[in-house]
Amino acid sequence: MISYDRSGPSVVRLLVQNWRNRYAEKVFSPEFSVLDRPAATAGLDLSTETPSSLASSRVGVMCRGIRGEIVLGISVTSMIQVKLPDGSVREAPEGTTARDIAAGIGKRLAEAAVAAVADGHIIDLDRPLDAIRESTLTSSNGTVAPKTDQPIDLRILTPKDREALDVLRHSTAHVMARAIMRLFPEVRLAFGPTTAQGFYYDVQIPGRSLSEEDFPAIEAEMSRIVQAGEPFERFTLPVAQAIEFLKGIKQDFKIEHITQELHTHGVLSFYRQGEFVDLCRGPHIPHAGKVGAFKLTSIAGAYWKGRADGPMLQRVYGTAFFNRQDLDTHLARIEEAKKRDHRRIGKDLHLFTISSLAGSGLVLWMPKGAMVRMILQQFLQDELLKRGYQPVYTPHIGRVELYKTSGHYPYYSDSQFPTLKLLSDPAKRLVEAIESGEAMDDATACRLLSEAGIPPVSVTPGSGSGGARSFTEMSPGERAAYVREHGVAEEYLLKPMNCPHHIEIYKAQQRSYRDLPVRLAEFGTVYRYEQSGELSGLTRVRGFTQDDAHLFCTPEQVRSEFAETMRLTQFVLESLGLSDYRVRLSRSDPDDPKFQGADASIWLKAEADIRAVLEDLGLPYDEGIGEAAFYGPKADFLVRDCLGRQWQLGTVQLDYVLPERFGLQYIGPDNAPHRPVMIHRAPFGSMERFMGILIEHFAGAFPLWLAPEQVRVLPISDKFNEYGRTVLHTLRQAGLRAELDQRPEKIGAKIRDAQLEKIPVMLVVGAKEAETGTVSYRDRVDGDRGVVSLADAVASLRREVETRAIRGVAPATLRSVEEETDHQSERFAY
Ligand SMILES: [Zn+2]
Ligand SMILES: [Zn+2]
Repeated sequence: MISYDRSGPSVVRLLVQNWRNRYAEKVFSPEFSVLDRPAATAGLDLSTETPSSLASSRVGVMCRGIRGEIVLGISVTSMIQVKLPDGSVREAPEGTTARDIAAGIGKRLAEAAVAAVADGHIIDLDRPLDAIRESTLTSSNGTVAPKTDQPIDLRILTPKDREALDVLRHSTAHVMARAIMRLFPEVRLAFGPTTAQGFYYDVQIPGRSLSEEDFPAIEAEMSRIVQAGEPFERFTLPVAQAIEFLKGIKQDFKIEHITQELHTHGVLSFYRQGEFVDLCRGPHIPHAGKVGAFKLTSIAGAYWKGRADGPMLQRVYGTAFFNRQDLDTHLARIEEAKKRDHRRIGKDLHLFTISSLAGSGLVLWMPKGAMVRMILQQFLQDELLKRGYQPVYTPHIGRVELYKTSGHYPYYSDSQFPTLKLLSDPAKRLVEAIESGEAMDDATACRLLSEAGIPPVSVTPGSGSGGARSFTEMSPGERAAYVREHGVAEEYLLKPMNCPHHIEIYKAQQRSYRDLPVRLAEFGTVYRYEQSGELSGLTRVRGFTQDDAHLFCTPEQVRSEFAETMRLTQFVLESLGLSDYRVRLSRSDPDDPKFQGADASIWLKAEADIRAVLEDLGLPYDEGIGEAAFYGPKADFLVRDCLGRQWQLGTVQLDYVLPERFGLQYIGPDNAPHRPVMIHRAPFGSMERFMGILIEHFAGAFPLWLAPEQVRVLPISDKFNEYGRTVLHTLRQAGLRAELDQRPEKIGAKIRDAQLEKIPVMLVVGAKEAETGTVSYRDRVDGDRGVVSLADAVASLRREVETRAIRGVAPATLRSVEEETDHQSERFAY
């Protein structure tokens, strides 16, 4: 008979010795059903475990009379509830680990398990699950997981999960650091997080610098560590002891990091793997043997904590996978991506150029690239007209006040070109006079000052009233500077966004509910001052053209208009063969003041609107907190290219904030003024970036309807140039973009050049073709199609253009688990 105080779910365990002198653990659940488990599976090693250590009863337990068994020890443990992905809830004693749960589900799962996700946190397989409800586990932003009576949401991670790959890669960074330390015992370690492609570790070896020539030795040492398959063991130390410990192993960067940023953490976790111990938040794979394949990839300089005045470290990059095949696919894909680099293809195919004289990050479209861009633009414009959009044009600059009213100004202050300051006429006159040394009496100077609205006395801030100086006391240089600073009549900004300009167009007319929705579209160029180190080809530029539009509608029209813009974006992406996408609902972060609006309910309403639209359209989506625009939530299209790389392209944004800031109105059926709602949308996003992605997606081999040169006519010799011209004329008359290769080259050379230039179709003409009015048709994808009549060739080409057919993009075989989700690496670093 057993009784105990049943305050809360708990379990009573009895360690018993039965009549065969065998040890066993008897577990009594709250319902008093007896769960017998042999001691070994209960995780008790009875050769070392003393029964008294298990007798730490926390509530009164009374027990007598279990037949034939001697009770050696009693413990009472609280129960935790664990909810599995299939919705089932299991009860388990405190101290249960994810590995225990996996084992309870099945042996195969327990063997495949790498780590687990508990309440959204990735944790070690051997971490007690209740630990995630304790204050020692803090999330990346330092918040403590709240205490709750809800079951712990648990998902076991196996090599199929992208999160597992990150855990593996970060653990491999430990393996690499350990290998480097074996070779160079004096190495100092900094940070070792994961990246989208693998991992790195920042290291410093006093008096030695690593090079790629060291990789074989490091990799060989790593292989030994992986083969030994030792476990990663977690332990914690209070901050002071952690520092002492790190002093002992001479890891100064880690000590500095603790004293600067982690001293408030209470306890800090370390991971031991054999002789190697590292300060780390974790999690890790259970043992190094899980690393199936790895490779060190490159080495670069990196500043400690990214501070240019800090010590210079070496960043050793590598990657790792659960198996060799995934690694090989990954390496093949990197090679393929290099071949497809749009900067290289853009140069080879003469699509665009960037000149340092014309300005870094400012794209100059060459005729062939401009042709592709123009076709894309026409394609979208035609579609917009069909869908009731109206074109508008606005200038490249606007007054600063416009962007202050819209609220854009503060958000782009770090990334915009400096403002253009225009002096008022009297101020300009004064500066000119001062700088040319023209004699001007003080009375005239002061009159001009007053006309310019500038006080004739400057007060130097911080120097009190004694700092006041009159204009006449200043030197000429000081005068000029003073007038330049205070005589600004107008300030302009290179346009960072098109929205406020379109808003002014909306406002220029009285609007009635009958006019709505108003859909204003413009391919508007905007400017951002990206740091020169950030600039890259077409994807990071300083001036780019958005395929922008703003819809102004009534609150009742929001959902249907939003749905229509989503459909348009889908149509556009799918027309370009980019049909592998998912949608992210980018929401506000209630704690971030960046997200404006009179009250939070507006945001909730807008987010609910988008959610309803996505569900209506049957579009699967996930949600990103804090990723909204400052004026409203949005639906972003995350598109995969043929290499499985993910790009954020189209965006549709819902905005209740800017109509408020600009006081927009329409007259409703009740004859009273009402506030419209805005939708901002751009299916391509930026023309430059979109083109860069398309170039890589197609490897420069654009489908027929987009190709700058669609057909090349290749006469076999000079004798057939005349017939070639006839063919060329016919093609051009049919609206096809065709050229004639009249060079005195052999036909083989002409074909090879056309292939290198990625011309979709070649029409070869010789004696037979000239006689019969035919062409020999060579298709880039299908190869030789034989001799066809010129009329048939034209008809087939026109059909392919009209249907915007996309053929032969491939190589989908180069995709892997790696690219399946967005990458996050913060979780591994303190
Ligand atoms: Zn770690
Ligand atoms: Zn906008």
